[in-house]
Amino acid sequence: MIAEKLREEVYNCIRCGLCMNKCPVYNQLYFEGAAPRGKVQLIKKVLEGKLEPSENFCRMLSLCLLCETCTVNCPSGVALDRLMKAMRAEVSEKFGLPWQKRAMFHLLSSDRLLPFCLFWGRTVGNPLRSLLPADGKVGTIPYHRLPLLNRRPLLNQFPEVVPALGRRVGSVLYFTGCATNYLFENVGRSVIATLTRLGVEVIIPKAQMCCGLPIALSGARKMALKNIRRNLEIFSRDDVDAVIVDCASCGSALKKEYTHILEELGENAEAARTLGKRVLDVAEYLSRFELEKFLRPLPGRVTYHDPCHLVRSQGVREEPRSLLKRIPELEFVEMEGPDVCCGGGGTFQWEHPEVAAGITRNKIKAIADTGAQFVASGCPGCRLQIYGSLDTDAIQVLHPVELVAMALERRLS
Ligand code: SF4
Ligand code: SF4
Repeated sequence: MIAEKLREEVYNCIRCGLCMNKCPVYNQLYFEGAAPRGKVQLIKKVLEGKLEPSENFCRMLSLCLLCETCTVNCPSGVALDRLMKAMRAEVSEKFGLPWQKRAMFHLLSSDRLLPFCLFWGRTVGNPLRSLLPADGKVGTIPYHRLPLLNRRPLLNQFPEVVPALGRRVGSVLYFTGCATNYLFENVGRSVIATLTRLGVEVIIPKAQMCCGLPIALSGARKMALKNIRRNLEIFSRDDVDAVIVDCASCGSALKKEYTHILEELGENAEAARTLGKRVLDVAEYLSRFELEKFLRPLPGRVTYHDPCHLVRSQGVREEPRSLLKRIPELEFVEMEGPDVCCGGGGTFQWEHPEVAAGITRNKIKAIADTGAQFVASGCPGCRLQIYGSLDTDAIQVLHPVELVAMALERRLS
């Protein structure tokens, strides 16, 4: 059952419709059920027992990127995203999840099965990728634009404690997340290289698990509890300056979603609240340092895409921009609508490829209009979606910290 306090949120909606025009999904489909206002009204009817949840109702709930644009624009402060997440959990208990999702979530919540499957993915899948049909896609992303799996998981490439270079000025715990661990090793290498160069010791707990957010946001909250409890146990340490995260979604999970999920399941959320206050996106942590002293020119032009889970879930807007602006000779150009969702939305682009493609098309145009050769974004999901939708290799999609590390290396070389 949805927690009593959250249920009452539906009565705060005054049906003003101010959330509608900003909703990327509504802007593609133009029907009330696709809009946040329509969703709240339907959820209200279900909660009042006037409407029986149906397969169509589940589909309507899945037609949402959980981008939180409606939440931050609602004058009545309706916690729309929390309502929709909680309702997804309700209906997934009633109807179950598709087998593909169940299989994927079993992998993500197993600390043995995931490395095993990804080992075979690397050994067999990477070499065989060129044999896949040229026009085949996963959702909106063509096979040939999918990233290869890392040679080795990032967690196996470094010792548990990576010492600071020179005088130690700090110590952090590093939550790598699955994407950096298995797909984008250069992000992790850049985080570690930059932090250690600045004098920060980096502790990378080997027993960390997937943050569990993909599982929880699909409605399988109880399945995500194993991941949440394990990560809370490992990262609840107060002998470090912060817990650093390089993925917007993992950061959002550790900062606030763990607390929401545990509270709404009636569990003790104290440890999650404490951890949430200690978590920082890597851009937030790096903005404390005088980076200018370390960076060499990196000629070029960069634009920045705000991940929903960073800008709205965590309120981090300026820090990544500030990092990029501090790199000498790297011209920063703002794109139109930098904080509009890219259309990825986790499994959204896979479940609703036509809707996602329409949203992503606008983002790609906004990027192309800047003439930038680099697009920076601190979310692996956005990176997949943007890179997978570009039809040119002249634009590189990178994490801001990768650009910082590139400028840093220039000094060392
Ligand atoms: S902006 Fe808020 S109050 Fe207005 S219709 Fe949307 S949810 Fe309801
Ligand atoms: S979270 Fe985003 S996609 Fe979902 S209803 Fe709100 S604005 Fe629309």
